[in-house]
Amino acid sequence: MHPLLERAKKVMPGGVSSPVRAFLAVGGEPPIVARAKGAEITDVDGKTYVDLVGSWGPMILGHSHPEVVEAIERAVRDGLSFGATCEREVLLAEAVLSRFPWADKVRFVSTGTEAVMSAVRLARGATGRDRVVKFEACYHGHADSMLVKGGSGLATLGIPSSAGVPKALAELTEVLPLDDEKAADELFAAKGREIACVIIEPMPANSGLLVQRHSFLAHLRKLTRQHGALLIFDEVISGLRVAAGGMTEITGLDPDIVTLGKIVGGGMPVGAYLAKDELMTRVAPLGPVYQAGTLSGNPVAMAAGLATLRLLEDRNVYRELDARGAMLQRGFERALERYEVTGSVARVGSVLWLSLQKGPPPRAWHQVDPSGAQIYGQIHRNAMLNGLWMAPSAFEVAFVSLAHGPEHIEAATRAFERSLEALRR
Ligand SMILES: *Cc1c(COP(=O)(O)O)cnc(C)c1O
Repeated sequence: MHPLLERAKKVMPGGVSSPVRAFLAVGGEPPIVARAKGAEITDVDGKTYVDLVGSWGPMILGHSHPEVVEAIERAVRDGLSFGATCEREVLLAEAVLSRFPWADKVRFVSTGTEAVMSAVRLARGATGRDRVVKFEACYHGHADSMLVKGGSGLATLGIPSSAGVPKALAELTEVLPLDDEKAADELFAAKGREIACVIIEPMPANSGLLVQRHSFLAHLRKLTRQHGALLIFDEVISGLRVAAGGMTEITGLDPDIVTLGKIVGGGMPVGAYLAKDELMTRVAPLGPVYQAGTLSGNPVAMAAGLATLRLLEDRNVYRELDARGAMLQRGFERALERYEVTGSVARVGSVLWLSLQKGPPPRAWHQVDPSGAQIYGQIHRNAMLNGLWMAPSAFEVAFVSLAHGPEHIEAATRAFERSLEALRR
């Protein structure tokens, strides 16, 4: 074991600050990172990899984009934290709202978890109802109400999926299957009057990439409205990634609250939630829903987000990201074919998922074949040896950035081919 990993394990649980980084799902040693630039990431021993994780989503421009780094350096010289509103915060709020024109106001927080937790509190505060509905396979951060899984059956009372989540709280979270209008209808018929909100990743990308039908998302919009419940689109991954206005723009649906994270901070810790005035006036200091943060709107983080959003203003960037995503998809699919490994690549723009099962990529968790995970572990270990850093879990997606040129995509494809070849031996 690397001596630094050994030391990390002595002082941090699993040697990490976030569980998936420990590589437990794939085996092998997680490298300790020294630096990252563009499409590449380098470990403390000087080994460089083509990076398909992109810090799990934020690095849409690639690592250490010079304009973002410069904006941060300028901000640092002006002070690290004020505990008061700053100009960069106002500019970032304007830049965010220009991409979600139906929303009137945005509140900044420091993580996606915090954005979701606050959005759910706002939904409960605004409706005076306690129940929330989430979907199986969707991840919304680690707030207590969201760390809940369904039991067997269609619409089920939530049970905690983590120790430390009170049963009484988990029971207020209902868990539905994706891609299933009937289950949602039944739940609303039974408990519609108690439901504060439905929260969904409109592009579920935390348990594979489970692309939803537009008609399913539209049905949720209609159903929530009929029953006086709010609809939250958790766009922490998809917002600013698949289009400037995320899935909200792509679907043309109008959720009541949108949560953002990842890209909005350009690699620094920022989350946000946005909505119309009718809801946002209920947030403190204007209204009774309390939510605050010592480091919220942090000037250095705001600078990183602002520089990133400015570089994403040119709408061609999304066409470009889509083209690069398509190129990687073709490369990986050809490799699967060539080495006769069952699978396909699900993709939305620059977000890709290797689905190691027969047939079209699944839309719901019960359609996912868990046996793909074992093969994936072997592919992952070989890919790392071949200089390709893939997500250390079969059910995490890959992200392509604007720094991924054809040379990186070809290198990634070759490394992937070599790891499939090793799989066959
Ligand atoms: C990453 C993620 C979160 C949590 O964000 P953190 O910044 O890790 O707290 C919430 N929702 C979705 C959809 C995510 O992908």
